[in-house]
Amino acid sequence: MAQVPKSARLHAARLTKALTPSSRLYSKYRSNVDLFLRAHKEQRPLFRLRDERVMASHLNLHKSVLFRRGYLVAWVDDDAYRRAVPGVDAMVAEVGIDADSPLIPLILAPESRIVSRSQPFLSILEHEVVHVNQALFGHPIPEFKADSLSELFDCFSAYATREYQANLIQLVRRPSAELRRTTVSFDQWVLLRAYTPALESVLRETASGRIRRGLVPRFLDEVPAQASALLRRWGCPGDLTDWFQSRWSVHVFTALKMLKEKGVDLTCAPLRPACRWVMREVAKARADAEREKAARFGRPTVSAT
Ligand SMILES: [Zn+2]
Repeated sequence: MAQVPKSARLHAARLTKALTPSSRLYSKYRSNVDLFLRAHKEQRPLFRLRDERVMASHLNLHKSVLFRRGYLVAWVDDDAYRRAVPGVDAMVAEVGIDADSPLIPLILAPESRIVSRSQPFLSILEHEVVHVNQALFGHPIPEFKADSLSELFDCFSAYATREYQANLIQLVRRPSAELRRTTVSFDQWVLLRAYTPALESVLRETASGRIRRGLVPRFLDEVPAQASALLRRWGCPGDLTDWFQSRWSVHVFTALKMLKEKGVDLTCAPLRPACRWVMREVAKARADAEREKAARFGRPTVSAT
């Protein structure tokens, strides 16, 4: 199992402290929660979860072990939840009862998990509590929408930062089963958990048309070139830069595969440039490997025409 380094423990402790709302901030959140609970009792409002309109069948307060406070969880019909966010155990969305009421960061999860006391699921809820606190501090998970490369980088980077913080805090406290099985280091694992969902969102929102067509190949080229600055911005240890760069194309390939499994059509026009990018990178990696092999064994390389 990947050991948790002392530096990660210290970093997680600092982040937990920084992301603990003051009494005043938490009281404001709780009064908005009370408003939401009252409105829910009277109207049972529908709210948006990605492209679905969903209704909470139950609402309750989850007592966070890490932050020692209650956080509102909305439990949503399983089918509606899985249609909206397939493959996601729980998430945070900012919702309001109507256009005039304040938005509150709400943890959403499928209703079949309401009685779950399994440690992995409770750990996921603690991860979502970190996202609620980030939103209370004015840093919610961003909605992906971009007309320029810099906007796309901002969304990607903001998302990866939020995930880096939530995963670091969660995994230091409770290493997951995947972390126990993985062959990569703890720091590498947290980095993976931070940027792969952000990358998946970039590709999914490209398919949905929220990201301007044509931006993605430039984005895919630019990320490894700017890796050092990005990792610094996310709060990751800088010695992971080479590792991150060397795996980027493999992780783009994996993200596309995951999207296909979740029902996204990879042949749709907006995603075709991303698929071509991956094929080009795979061909390049194969050619590099062939050249290296030939150099090692003294054979001439065969060049394709
Ligand atoms: Zn998260």
